[in-house]
Amino acid sequence: MPVRGRRPADFRVLIGEVTALTRTEPSSTPTAPDRADSIRFCSWCGELSEQPRRPLHVPHRVCDSCEMGVLLSCRRDALSGDAAAFLICTYELTVSAVSEAGERIFGAQDRLAGAHLLDLATCPLGDEQLARHAALAAQRARELVVVPMRLRSDEGAALGTLAARIATCGPPRAALVTVEPTGFGRR
Ligand SMILES: [Zn+2]
Repeated sequence: MPVRGRRPADFRVLIGEVTALTRTEPSSTPTAPDRADSIRFCSWCGELSEQPRRPLHVPHRVCDSCEMGVLLSCRRDALSGDAAAFLICTYELTVSAVSEAGERIFGAQDRLAGAHLLDLATCPLGDEQLARHAALAAQRARELVVVPMRLRSDEGAALGTLAARIATCGPPRAALVTVEPTGFGRR
């Protein structure tokens, strides 16, 4: 899928991101999830993993179940369970991965990789909401945020409004966007 360059509307989003980043937040804001509350999951099959954590210098973190995905960590409430439908994007909102279940919603991984999140999805509350929460989650561990989301694809109308849970995952740090149908707004 070709990645479009920044459109004029994106500058509003960019300014919104910068404003959000420069706003001083109290240091008592809960940010990093407790280690005990973090889970590991596979970036492809989405299975939750009990594999022991490896030392950071050991790069081998391939999933034992599917041997295709890598194991990432996130807060426990970011995923609804095994085999969740999600995509992962960078702070620039570039899609870096999609889960097997996510492919059935967003499309094939090889077409999605490198696409911009806002080229795939829109937020009924305003695209800047989606952009800001995903960009922030990709930069530092923060509270889970749930926003409504709709896909721009032809399937989007049939899927209706999705509930998108946005959380931090990694390493490397990125935004985890898990989607579930809400049953609303289907055409
Ligand atoms: Zn796997």
